[in-house]
Amino acid sequence: MTPEEIVAKLHWMGHDAFRLDGPPVIYIDPWKLQGKHVPADLVLISHDHYDHCSPEDVRKVMGPRTIVVATAAAEAKVPGARIVRAGERLTAAGVDIETVPAYNVNKFRSPGQPFHPREAGMVGYIVTVGGVRIYFAGDTDHIPEMDSVQCDIALLPVSGIYVMTAEEAAQAAKAIRPAIVVPMHYGLGIGTDDDGERFARLYDGKVTVLKQE
Ligand SMILES: [Zn+2]
Repeated sequence: MTPEEIVAKLHWMGHDAFRLDGPPVIYIDPWKLQGKHVPADLVLISHDHYDHCSPEDVRKVMGPRTIVVATAAAEAKVPGARIVRAGERLTAAGVDIETVPAYNVNKFRSPGQPFHPREAGMVGYIVTVGGVRIYFAGDTDHIPEMDSVQCDIALLPVSGIYVMTAEEAAQAAKAIRPAIVVPMHYGLGIGTDDDGERFARLYDGKVTVLKQE
């Protein structure tokens, strides 16, 4: 498949919550889901913060065959998930998955205390679907590990405060050079509704700003 064909199957429910139409149906960080939902084949959870790891929303998409993949801290909230660390490769629900570290280098809740400390083991994911590599960066700054990520589509946070600003995300995108960037981590009260468009103006590559569903 082409990156454009994959993006056409990608739905954004605001913030970092996505669904990729199947098969296999993949949800990432489901949160504040509205209405009815197609059951998941695979759910990926990037870390244990409430706006990414929502047991209530995971329950909404659970079906008979659903496999949940999560970090250890997130598994504590969603028991039974397959636990991953940063820098792993695995296959779940027939999908090849790689985990990439996700952490802050310059976003602090108090001096010396990053919102997402490297040692907390939070992750981003690279999933390969139809031969297309999709990188979901998670809650992260532009970290050195990002520069060696190879992907066709990059889902990058752009709201600042807890994650990359739109300017930093544009720099990260220049380092990664995917075919398409999809901005995320805004739209549900974190960041402003305009953050995706602002990122699109700052970055000179192809951007798809998804409509919140
Ligand atoms: Zn977080």
